[in-house]
Amino acid sequence: MEEPAGRQANKKVVAVVGGGLVGALNACFFAKRGFQVEVFETREDIRTAKSVRGRSINLALSLRGRQALRHVGMEDKIVSKGIPMNGRMIHSLSGKQSPIPYGKKGQFILSVDRANLNKELLTEAETYPNTKLNFDHKLQDWSTETGLMTFTRSDGSRTQVQADLIVGCDGAFSAVRKQFLRRSRFNYSQTYIPHGYMELTMPPRDGEFAMKPNFLHIWPRNTFMMIALPNLDKTFTCTLFMPFEEFEKITTGDEVIEFFQKYFPDSIPLIGAGALRRDYFRLPAQPMVSVKCSPYHIEDGCVLMGDAAHAVVPFYGQGMNAGFEDCIVFNEIMDQFNEDFSLVLPEYSRVRVPDDHAIADLAMYNYVEMRAHVNSRWFLFRKRVDNFLHFLMPKTIVPLYTMVTFTRTRYHEAVQRWHWQQKVINRSLLLAAAGALLGGSYLLIKNPPNINSLIVPAEQIWSRVVALKTS
Ligand SMILES: Cc1cc2nc3c(=O)[nH]c(=O)nc-3n(C[C@H](O)[C@H](O)[C@H](O)COP(=O)(O)OP(=O)(O)OC[C@H]3O[C@@H](n4cnc5c(N)ncnc54)[C@H](O)[C@@H]3O)c2cc1C
Repeated sequence: MEEPAGRQANKKVVAVVGGGLVGALNACFFAKRGFQVEVFETREDIRTAKSVRGRSINLALSLRGRQALRHVGMEDKIVSKGIPMNGRMIHSLSGKQSPIPYGKKGQFILSVDRANLNKELLTEAETYPNTKLNFDHKLQDWSTETGLMTFTRSDGSRTQVQADLIVGCDGAFSAVRKQFLRRSRFNYSQTYIPHGYMELTMPPRDGEFAMKPNFLHIWPRNTFMMIALPNLDKTFTCTLFMPFEEFEKITTGDEVIEFFQKYFPDSIPLIGAGALRRDYFRLPAQPMVSVKCSPYHIEDGCVLMGDAAHAVVPFYGQGMNAGFEDCIVFNEIMDQFNEDFSLVLPEYSRVRVPDDHAIADLAMYNYVEMRAHVNSRWFLFRKRVDNFLHFLMPKTIVPLYTMVTFTRTRYHEAVQRWHWQQKVINRSLLLAAAGALLGGSYLLIKNPPNINSLIVPAEQIWSRVVALKTS
C-alpha cells in the first residue's frame, strides 16, 4: 500500500475523481487557482489507448460550455474543431427537409468530437505543473470521516490516497456519491426512460457531407426519432432513439431495412443498406438515465459535479454544458468566499441544485418536443410568434431555447420566465383572435353582404364537387 499523498507546502490537495469531460476541465480550474490537483480515472489514458469505449461520439457544445472553456483558455481550440449547427433540419416521411433556426442569425451550437474534447482537456490539465493524472485508478471506497480514498488498479493492486477536497466527477454511476447515499437528509432519485439509443454512421458522399452539414438533422416520428450531427471527417453520426421493445422487435437485416423504409426512407441511400443491416446489430441499444440529488456536498470535504450530481437525458444537449457550467459556478463561489471550503461547499449546493434540477426537467420535456411537437403546426406557429416577438422586444420576450442555449440565465430562472411568457403570449393570442372575431362580426352586421352573390359561388362550388366525384 502506498503512503497517503500529503500536502505540499501550504497548498491544499484536491482529488478529482473521474477524468471524463467535467473532471478534466475541473482539474484545469483547480490547478489555475494553485491547488495540488490529483486526477484519478478508471480507464487507461484515452490519448494512448488502442480503443476508446464510451458514450455518444459527438456532442452539442453551446454557450455555457464555451464560457467554461474560455476560463481555462481552451475555447478557441475547441471551437475551431467544431461544426456550427444553425438550426434543426426536420425530415418528413416524404423526405422533405424544413429548417427551423435555433435563434437569431449568427447564433449556432457546435458539434464537437467527444473523444477529442476529452483528450484536449486532459492535455491541458497536464500543462499545469501542480496537476498529476493517475489513470487506471478506480475509486472503490472512501471514508467521510478521514477523507481516505481507496483505488483499485487493473493488476489487482490497491492504493490509498488522502486529499483536502474530493471532487466527484465520476459520472452518472458515481462511486463518490455512494457515500452520500449512506447519510441522512440526502435526497436521491434516478429514472430510466423507456427509450434507448443506438448510433449509426452516415459516410461522406463523393468526398462531401451527405446532407447539409450546418444543421442538427431530425426525423421526428412521434414515439421515436432519429437525429444526426456532423463530424469533421464529413460523416454524420445518426442516433436512433426508440423504446427498447421496438429495438428488440427488429431481429433480422431485412426487418431493419423494412423499418427504415417505413420511417426514415430518405436515410437508406445515405447510410447504405448494407451498413444498416450490419451496424444495427453491432451493439445493443444503450439506456438513458436521469439522476437528481441534493445536497451536492458533504461538509467541507467532498462535492459532486457533472453527471455525478445531475445526469440528464440528452434531449436538450445540455448535460456536458451544465457540467462545465458547474465548474464556473464553483469557481465564482470560491472567489466570493476566499476558497474557504466550509462556506463554499454549502453555498455551491444552495445555488446549483435548483438549476441542475431545472435542466433535468427541461431535458425530459424536450424528449417529447423533439420527437413529437416539431411535427405540429401549432408548435411551429408558436415558435415563429416567439421569434417575432423576440425580434420586436429582445429584452422582454426571449424564447426558452435561446435562454438555455445562448445565455447564462440560470436554468431555473429560464423556466420561470418561460412559464410567464407562455401565459402572456397565449392570452394575447386568444385576445387577438377574440378581437378579430368580434370585429369581423361587427363589420358583417354593419354591412351585411348581398346573399345572392354568395349563393351563386356556392352553387358553382357544389357543381364542381359533383363534377369531380363523377369524373
Ligand atoms: C447519447 C448522448 C448524447 C449526449 N449529447 C450531449 C450533447 O449534445 N450536449 C451535452 O452538453 N451533453 C450531452 N450528453 C451528456 C454528456 O455526455 C454528459 O453530461 C457528460 O459526459 C458528463 O461528463 P462527466 O465528466 O460528468 O461524466 P462522464 O463523461 O461520464 O465521465 C465520468 C468519468 O469518470 C470515470 N469514472 C467512473 N467511475 C469511476 C471511478 N469509480 N473511479 C475513477 N473514475 C471513474 C469514467 O471512466 C469517466 O471517464 C449526451 C449524453 C448521451 C448519453
